[in-house]
Order: sequence, then C-alpha cells, then structure tokens
Amino acid sequence: MSVKKSKDNAETALLSVVQNLKQDGEIRLGQLEMLRQVDSIIHNGGCAVVKAGTGTGKSFAYLVPALLSGKKIVIATATKTLQDQLAKNDLPAVSDTLDLELSYAVLKGRSNYLCRKAFGEHIDERNPGAPKLFSYANKGFAVYEEISDWLAVTETGDLSELDIEVTADLAKEISVTVDECVGSRLCPKGDVCFAEKAKKRTEEATVIVVNLHLLCLDMVYGKILPNYDVLIVDEVHELEDVLTKTLGFTITSKRFRGAIAELQSALNEISKLRSSGDSRTKDFFSKMGYQETYLDALFATVSEELPESVAGIDDYLEMLSGRRILYGEPSKAETAFLAHLDIMADKVQFILDLLTKYLAHFSYLSSTKDREEEEEFLSEKPVQRSVNLTGKAPLPDKTIRAVQVVTKLLADMHHILAKDANFVIYAEREAGFLKLEGMPLDLSLFLDKGTFTNKPTVMTSATVDGAIVSRLGADGDLVSFTEVQSPFDYHSNSLLYIPSHLPDPRKKDMSTYRYSEIATLLKAFNGKALVLFTSKAAMEEAYEFCLRKVSTNLIMQGRHSRRFLIDKFTAERDTSLFATMSFWQGVDVPGESLSLVIIDKIPFPRPDDPLLMARRELAGEAGFVSIDLPKAANLLAQGVGRLIRSSTDKGVVAVLDPRLNTAKYKNYLISRLPAMPVTTDYKEVLSYLSTLALNDN
Ligand code: SF4
Repeated sequence: MSVKKSKDNAETALLSVVQNLKQDGEIRLGQLEMLRQVDSIIHNGGCAVVKAGTGTGKSFAYLVPALLSGKKIVIATATKTLQDQLAKNDLPAVSDTLDLELSYAVLKGRSNYLCRKAFGEHIDERNPGAPKLFSYANKGFAVYEEISDWLAVTETGDLSELDIEVTADLAKEISVTVDECVGSRLCPKGDVCFAEKAKKRTEEATVIVVNLHLLCLDMVYGKILPNYDVLIVDEVHELEDVLTKTLGFTITSKRFRGAIAELQSALNEISKLRSSGDSRTKDFFSKMGYQETYLDALFATVSEELPESVAGIDDYLEMLSGRRILYGEPSKAETAFLAHLDIMADKVQFILDLLTKYLAHFSYLSSTKDREEEEEFLSEKPVQRSVNLTGKAPLPDKTIRAVQVVTKLLADMHHILAKDANFVIYAEREAGFLKLEGMPLDLSLFLDKGTFTNKPTVMTSATVDGAIVSRLGADGDLVSFTEVQSPFDYHSNSLLYIPSHLPDPRKKDMSTYRYSEIATLLKAFNGKALVLFTSKAAMEEAYEFCLRKVSTNLIMQGRHSRRFLIDKFTAERDTSLFATMSFWQGVDVPGESLSLVIIDKIPFPRPDDPLLMARRELAGEAGFVSIDLPKAANLLAQGVGRLIRSSTDKGVVAVLDPRLNTAKYKNYLISRLPAMPVTTDYKEVLSYLSTLALNDN
C-alpha cells in the first residue's frame, strides 16, 4: 500500500472509531496531526516524539495507524491506569470498529502473577481440606479460600483481578520475584505457570502492552519481549526516571540479612538431603573430598561471621550518610568500608561457589544453548542462571533460590568495589533506614545508539520535551519532534494566577504568607481545590494552618489511601485535597470538584540530590538549564494539567511562587504550560471566578 493510501485509510479509520464511540464524534485537529506523524514513522522508519496536550485523544491517534499496519506492536506505559485503559477499552474499540483480527497481551513483572508453586506450598503442609493458614493479618483461612475460588476461574493469574487487597505481605506469600522463581523447567508447576503463560501470549499477540520497567529491562538486557516491529512509548516523560531505577541498585543491611537467610535455608536443605541418604548429594561431597565437618564450617560462616559483618554495615553507612561516595580520593571511612565489603564479598562468593558447584553436580550443567533459552524464557533481569536440573531427584529449590538472590547481591557489591565511574553511589537515610544507592550517571551509555531509531518508534506524552531522545543517546538526525495542541479552550476556560506580592519561597520563615494565600483562595472558591506541595512538611503545615482558617472540608494525603482521597474529593464538591508529589500526576477529576489547582512552588528537584548533583557536574555550566529546568518544567506542567480534564472544565491554577513571574527562566516554564491567560492580580481572579458560575457561588 502506498504511504498516501495508508494515511487516507488511517484517517478514515480514525473517524469511524471516533464516531462509533460517540455519535457526531469528530477527529480533533491535534489528533489528526499526530495520526499522520505516527503513520509516517511506521511506514518510513525513525523516531517521532509527539507532545500531545491533554484531551488530544492520543491513544487512538497511535493505535489506529499502528493496528492498520498489521505489524507487531509494543506499547509501553508508565501507569497501570493507562495499561488497563488500553487493554480493556481502547484496543477492543479500535479492533471491533475496524473489524481487525488481532490479539493483544498485557505483560507485567513476575511478581504481579500468582505463583502456583508458592501458593501450593500453603496447601501441601495441611491435612486435606484444611490448608495451612497464611500468616497474613491473621485472616489466613478466609484469604486462602478467597484466592482458591479465584484460582479456579482465573485465566491470567494476575493478582490485580483479586477482589481482596493484595498487600505487600500477602504478595510475598503468593507470588515470587524473578530472583525467587526456580524457573519453569525445574518448577513442578512450570507448565501451568501464569507468568510463563503471560510471556508465551506475547509471542503470539499482535499488540503487547507492557509497563516502562519491563521495556527498560528489555532495552538494556534484552530477552524480555519477543521480536516486534514498532515501539510506542506513552507517558514517556517518565522513561528516564524508570530507566535510572531499572539500572540502579540499593544495598541495605536488611538486604544482606535476607541473603544470609537464603544461604542458611540452602545449607539446611543440602544438609537434610545429605542425611536423608540422597545419592547425588552424597556423591557430590565424596567427589569434592568434603569431610562431614565441611558443612558445619559453612554454617558457622553463614550463621556467625556474615551476620557479624552485616552488623557493621549500618555503622559505615551512618558515617558515609548524606553524600556521594567512592568518587575522587576516598576518605578513611570509605576505604575502611570498602575493605569491610571486600571481606564480606569473598565470604559470600566462597559459599556461592560451593552452592553453584553443588547444583551443577546435582543436575549437570546445561549446555550453553539450553541455558540461553532458559534465561530467555524466565528472566526479567538476567541474573546468572547456571543451573538446569534434570532427573527425578528432589528439587533443591531453596538452593536454586539462594544462588539467584545472592548472585544479584554480589553483582551489586562488585559495582561498589569496582568504583564503577558510570554509577553515582551515595549513602543516605530514608524513612529511618540507612541505604546505599547506586544510580547510573549518564543513561545514554547504557543504551544502544539505535535503541529508538532501529525500528519505528513513537514517544508521546502531554509534557515530553524534544531533547529526551538525545539525552538517551539516540541519533538526532532520525528523530522528529512535533507538538500538537490540546483541543481544550484554555484561553477562555482557565486562568493562571501568579501572586506577585508573595515572598520568594527560598526565603526563610515566609511560609505563612503562602499558607495564608491558600486559605484565601480556598474561601473564595468554597473548596474545590487540589493543593499540591513539593514537600510533606509544607503540606502538613499548610493543612494545619488552613484547618484553623477555612470552614470547608479539607483532606490530606497520608491519612487515607489514594483511591479513597480521590473518590471523596470527586464526590464532595466543597472538599479540598492537600497532597505531595505523587498527586502531581495521574489525578483525573473532571467537573466542578476540581476548579482550583494551587501549587506551592516551582517543583525544582532537591539541590542536594546526589544523582542530580553528579549529573549537573557532568553537564558543567549548562547543569541548571539541562538538568533542573526540564525536570521542574515537566512536573509543573503535570501539576497544572490537573485542572482542565474535559472540554467543559473551567478554573484557576495558582502558582504561589513569584519566580514564575520574575526569574530569567520564567518564559521557558510558561511556554511548557497550556496557553492560559496569566494574571498577578487577585482581583482578576475574583472577577474570573464570578464568571465561572460554580454551583455554590
Ligand atoms: S515457574 Fe516460577 S513463578 Fe511459575 S509457578 Fe514456578 S516458581 Fe512460580
């Protein structure tokens, strides 16, 4: 088909889809422009970055040409909400209207699926009909029954389908991470494993929907996704942060203790197999020339020496806390820490070697080809999987699991010991716990130059900037940037208020002025406000202040679940919601309940964030412009974007930071926002408010 014909087809098809959803539905201009751009990239190759304002209808603008192309498509999104919307609404809407025969699959990380092996372990230890109670919240039997009933009917095993809330504790009992999974070839439930089935479905599907984390793992390590033809990344403004987290690592004393527990379980398992007379285990010990006392010595290392070493880890982290380490000339504390870690790594490596040899003997190492296939089939993150057990001997699954978990830990320890210059390593205390974090400095070093251009790629979001692909190392010649306008009438339906009388938020002891302005606005609007803060402390102070000054209902993040807060805020029109960073994005409340967005200050990243400090240093003089401003602009645009969610929405965004009116960079920040009229005069806000005819004003 010629490119022109394909484009015409796509436009006609989009019109059918839009009209099928809504009588008299029309294609929006921005949507049409985006569809043409996507269609061209699919047929001509390259990478299109499309900034598509709120309400563009971007999912149909990329789905229609992508599905019509007949190619295999991967769509990656940051949020579960959008994944669900694509899989449950948008994909069926397009394929039904256009009568396309296509199959689609949603792939999530392994721990999102019920692990039949882990769940089965709750049954095996009980008498028939009386399964072992889950430790979960003392509600074990009821929870067990609920899951059993669901298990009898679910086709996917996706834990999000369960009617009960899957807390972190429950998830630990019924699912496994990729490091904990023994692998489908070894697992007694491997042939009916939900995670494996989900992976299999992606091979047959025409469209695969994944989250950004899995996409990042595939981009860096491969073997997650099958071969595909076209990549579409939605909510792409999150990609750099997700990639940073995917490549990074965290070490805590708790993680060490967890690894020690895994090693203890493995040694216990081997010891039991040995004393039970298991012939291969006995063979192993005699072949290696290990005496009876050998295991005792290993137990002593794992039960005494390693825990002692781990006890010292927090002392070192305390000393190193609050700064980047292993950068430049090491301090005495850093040198001592490295020496301590080195000794631990040797001990861990020694035991790991023994366990790996044991598994190899027990099962015979598989051929390289088999091993690769196995990794391909199993892994979300390529830990060293060197085992492939065969035969009918009991499965030493605790040993397999220990090898996987400890191999990953050891790899992260070696990042530190090698003082890997591509990682920014820093110690800090978070929520009372000390941790050592390693994050990649320059993301482009970890990606192939052609990652986003070797196959047709579309990247889109309401707030993406054109430089994203060059920051990720792609060849700029093959990348186009298009901005398509939102269909919403921001000019008539919104007002951006930047009070000029407020002090610079960096000045000390001036917060009360901002809190007072919040209270004034809440009174004027009779609630109906989403109030966004850059810090928890500011949110709590402002909330306490406003409780004393405002008579309308106030709710605050942290006291209830996100779902509860948003439902209450949506349902009760005079309620105002105070929240921090996680509410700057993804809150979608059309209607009068959200008629006012208040932003306490421009959301610049923390100046002392060790990763950003290192990235600023790398960027030199351009640090502020290339690191801080784009981040602040993106988040500010996300926050402002909470106001207008439908063509009938109207309201005011108040940014209580005069720098948006005075700083050199003000035009850059404002240019990244929807085209709203701007005022610094509160009287104009009141006059605009009187035109809104809100129900209770
Ligand atoms: S293959 Fe892994 S995830 Fe699947 S049932 Fe077995 S242990 Fe669980």
